Amino acid sequence: MSDLNVVGDQDAWRCWLCDAPVDPDASTNSDLGPSIDNFAAAKGKKGAPAVERLAHRACNTMKGKIAPVVPWSPDLFVVDPSPIFESVERLSRKGGREIVARCPSQADADQAAEWLLDRLSRFAPGMEFEAQITPGGGQFMLALRA
Ligand SMILES: [Zn+2]
Repeated sequence: MSDLNVVGDQDAWRCWLCDAPVDPDASTNSDLGPSIDNFAAAKGKKGAPAVERLAHRACNTMKGKIAPVVPWSPDLFVVDPSPIFESVERLSRKGGREIVARCPSQADADQAAEWLLDRLSRFAPGMEFEAQITPGGGQFMLALRA
């Protein structure tokens, strides 16, 4: 188990799941206090290394016992957004391209793409993503390519 300060610095004192700041001085017994989430990267795979990420105590998946949820920003106009955690996990295993949301306008899609790439730069710092916007059926598809 790594030192909390090392994991905290690595994640710049932001919770890897909810993206809100974590106070390094908060009590580790409070819900918003800092904790280390030991999430096994490839679940079920023997010998897969656990990834250590900074989480609020209340957000911690407790070694994956709770399904991790990465929420989309409520400020975006996205229709049928995919669960971010699952999409990123699939893309990290297999690569390729996935449609992650539909947006009513090009501007909404641009905004969602910008938000998502920024969010993923902290959620999955080791991966490179490209966002692609494709018009179709009066809507704009937002796809993520890894
Ligand atoms: Zn959190």
